[in-house]
Amino acid sequence: MPHLAHEPPRRPTSATTVSVRRQPSYRERDRFVGFAFAAADLLIETDTKGVIQFCAGARCRLTTGDVAGLVGSSLLDLVAPSDRKYVNVLMKRIQDKARIKPARVVFQGCDGQRFTALLGGCRLDSCPGSLFLTILLSSGPRATQEALTVAGQLLDSHAFGNILEERIIRAREKGLDHGLTLLLVEGLQSMVDALPEGAADEVKQGIDAYLRAISADGDSAGRLATDRYGIVHASDIDGQEVQSHIAQIIHNAGGELPGGIRTWSLDVADEKLDAADAARALVYTVQAFASAQGGDFTISSLEDGAKRMLSDAVDRIGRLRATIEKRDFFVVYQPIVDIGTQAVHHLEALTRVEGMPSPADFITFAEDVGLIYDFDLLLTQSVLDTMQTYRKEPTLPDVAINLSAKTLMSPIFLRQFQAVTEPYGDLARKLLVEVTETVVVTDIARLNEVLQKLRTAGFRICLDDVGAGSTSFQSLYGIQADFAKIDGKFVRGAVENARDMAMLRSMVDVCRQLGLGLIGEQVEGPEHAELLTDLGVSLAQGYLYSRPSRDFAYFAKDWSKMGGKGGKILWKS
Ligand code: C2E
Ligand code: CA
Ligand code: CA
Repeated sequence: MPHLAHEPPRRPTSATTVSVRRQPSYRERDRFVGFAFAAADLLIETDTKGVIQFCAGARCRLTTGDVAGLVGSSLLDLVAPSDRKYVNVLMKRIQDKARIKPARVVFQGCDGQRFTALLGGCRLDSCPGSLFLTILLSSGPRATQEALTVAGQLLDSHAFGNILEERIIRAREKGLDHGLTLLLVEGLQSMVDALPEGAADEVKQGIDAYLRAISADGDSAGRLATDRYGIVHASDIDGQEVQSHIAQIIHNAGGELPGGIRTWSLDVADEKLDAADAARALVYTVQAFASAQGGDFTISSLEDGAKRMLSDAVDRIGRLRATIEKRDFFVVYQPIVDIGTQAVHHLEALTRVEGMPSPADFITFAEDVGLIYDFDLLLTQSVLDTMQTYRKEPTLPDVAINLSAKTLMSPIFLRQFQAVTEPYGDLARKLLVEVTETVVVTDIARLNEVLQKLRTAGFRICLDDVGAGSTSFQSLYGIQADFAKIDGKFVRGAVENARDMAMLRSMVDVCRQLGLGLIGEQVEGPEHAELLTDLGVSLAQGYLYSRPSRDFAYFAKDWSKMGGKGGKILWKS
């Protein structure tokens, strides 16, 4: 095969067109040039040190002049400083493996601006001392680019979960071979802390660069915790190779690891599950690995722990999906009551799954594996169906449904919620939306936008569990709502200790200043109701008034006549 660098550099007029000369001696060469430009915008040959020997392609951001002018400079000078070590590893891998698939690299334009592009490469036995590189300038998904350029290094555990999910689904659809490796480097942080600064950087950056270089597309490696990593990669990478490479990086920097290095690898193309469920189970396992302290994921238990966690997750997802598909759940209702008059203000709809005393585990797991969305919409529909049945009742109450913030943040939520509620007309405006788990939301402003659209459409919004870990002060300030529900733990705690009382008082103050109606939860005894009244909170929910009940009809009828004269509802089911 003719060697490009030995011909006079003949650059095409644009990146994808190559003038084809008629002379037969050039015909074969032009064919290969054509193939190369079909896959890339720039073709670069370097020596093994990365000094550019030949460069062809259209003008681009890497130089103000002709790209041929790059000959003689170092490829690394075109790369953003944060990615130089990584590109070094990529070049080394070309020498070791003969070829690398295109990987995302952050380049530095001649104007100083950074941009991502795909760098691929190979070497040829017939041309020792040369590396043949391709650069594809179109830069791929924005989110990935941002994640990379912001972090400059590896993805965090949340971003890694997203990439993992996307890559698994794509690998299944396109029949790509992909593997996932979890890597535990026990004691890494304490070792790095004890190293001199230069050596510490050498270890951290060395590991980051290596893991990115072996990851699929160069952007699928994550640092999940101080000593834990996850990598999605082509299936030709095995755990042993990763372990010995990491050990080498540490050794070269003069470090001595107090613990061991262990990996767990898995072929993600396993066909037992559908792609989306496989992705969910894996993301769940990876998140557990990221947040675990010892337990299932120590050096000696990593393989077994991960395997067990994954197979449990697969089973649970299967059961959860069946529960949702077969609609094996029902709804109970609990009133929110005006403390002064004891009239029902509205009801809260709560899920019950047969054989489970509380839906909390079920709901949390559905949130973790991304099935809460389907469930929440199904429940909304089920509540509306019940209300429809009783729509003629003169005192048909308003009903609050719980929607996880994760559900609300889904880009298709508003459209789907409208599709579910529209057939019920005005009846749907009797719904209040209780927002739970706002802590998982990083973009409160966007959540607020969704909520304001719901309000404009006539739905009232209630922030759930205010004061508990699940609704932060940040969300309280960033969201305009109609009601705040004070977490029951504080109501009960305030009766017993001054600390909770102080918290409760200040929470009530803040909510009032934000113009929110207040509801106290878990009012079990008269002392809780009195306390709320003292604080000026007029609405309450709890066993003092009624336990949750399946009997919607009871609440839909004129309950004051049924429950005793203006008295308590007291439903003891
Ligand atoms: P939550 O929204 O804070 O619901 C109130 C919980 O307090 C309910 O638990 C209710 O039964 C319980 N409760 C009511 N009165 C009292 C009382 O006086 N004392 C005590 N100790 N507890 C009381 P439940 O039904 O077990 O629900 C647990 C959580 O599961 C809910 O907490 C909510 O976050 C979630 N959840 C329930 N149903 C759904 C649903 O359909 N969708 C979503 N996304 N989440 C739901
Ligand atoms: Ca609630
Ligand atoms: Ca609550």
